Amino acid sequence: MKFRTRAIHVGSEPDATGAVIPPIYLATTFIQPGAGEWGTFDYSRSGSPTRARVEQVLANLEGAAGALAFSSGMAATHCAMMLLEAGSHVVAGSDIYGGTYRLLHKICNRNQIEVSLVPAYDAESIANAIRPNTKMVWIESIGNPLMTIPDIPAIASITRSAGILLGVDSTFVPPCIMRPLEHGADLVMHSATKALGGHSDCLAGVLAARDRELHQRLYFTQNATGAVLGGLESFLLHRGIKTLALRVREQCRSALMIAQWLESHPRVRRVLYPGLASHPQHERARKMMGDQFGTMISFELNGDLAETKRVCGATKLFGLAVSLGAVESLIEQPATMSHASYDAMARATAGISDSLIRISIGLEDTDDLIEDLNQAMGT
Ligand code: PLP
Repeated sequence: MKFRTRAIHVGSEPDATGAVIPPIYLATTFIQPGAGEWGTFDYSRSGSPTRARVEQVLANLEGAAGALAFSSGMAATHCAMMLLEAGSHVVAGSDIYGGTYRLLHKICNRNQIEVSLVPAYDAESIANAIRPNTKMVWIESIGNPLMTIPDIPAIASITRSAGILLGVDSTFVPPCIMRPLEHGADLVMHSATKALGGHSDCLAGVLAARDRELHQRLYFTQNATGAVLGGLESFLLHRGIKTLALRVREQCRSALMIAQWLESHPRVRRVLYPGLASHPQHERARKMMGDQFGTMISFELNGDLAETKRVCGATKLFGLAVSLGAVESLIEQPATMSHASYDAMARATAGISDSLIRISIGLEDTDDLIEDLNQAMGT
């Protein structure tokens, strides 16, 4: 079956009542058949019927052996990092999400985990950064906020020959566009708070693993540490997934039109969007993502920090807020918002300038969004 059909039917099979929408189970504990005998579910940290359904559809859509739903994207990334023994080394993309930077540098370091940040769009620099104690490469399927595109198949062949894991945070590229496991990744992570949930009303995270053994190791950690997705959020996430492909297709169409419009705007110095022919990894993006290039655009104004802040605050439809991927469009300044947790030096090295603006394209009419940006930029 095709993606859209699976998104609607897998994990949504009617129960004994015939209800077309599965019920929401809020039970935290389950009656067992006998002392020392265990039923399918025993305690909701270890598994719950509502979470199991959404995990089933997520694994199916990612082409994974199994998926796990977490209480947030960061909880999912943290669980992946807990695969690492003390003293391990991680090679990560230099333009990753600020919260992932913080997790690696300010939490994982407490366990003597070392991190090297390298430009993930350059597979050779990843190969060169691998050391004897490197255990994982962690990249984003579109770098954040500079919109760089890593060559996932090339990086996967590097990690495979080094015998280490490749984890891909694919929050910016939902599975209706691209599935990193098909390109050789071992592990895909999503902040499901974004496109998968799609309505800015559900904080959630996902890990989907290529093989059963890795899935079991992650499940062990998740169950032992407890950052699972609750029943209500599992239901909301599952509902969002049913319209994912339709929402994302329209948002990508709109994003490409807005990126092209921005590129021709006199007040804009440069536009970073993988769908533009001017993007340095445009051809690579096309190979992996086809004709949908995501819903996120970054651009730099001809102006200073004060002017950038002014424009971010002057939109009427684009809400000034972090987050992305949902039905409403958002605008933010990475240097002071999504990437404020980077050290200033690391931000400068990664090329995240103060005049960079990041926008998330929602489902509003494209003309209205262009008009809003136009009036905010003051022309
Ligand atoms: N990864 C990326 C690329 C993100 O944009 C975010 C959140 O913005 C996260 C991870 C963290 O996800 P959450 O906020 O659901 O914990």
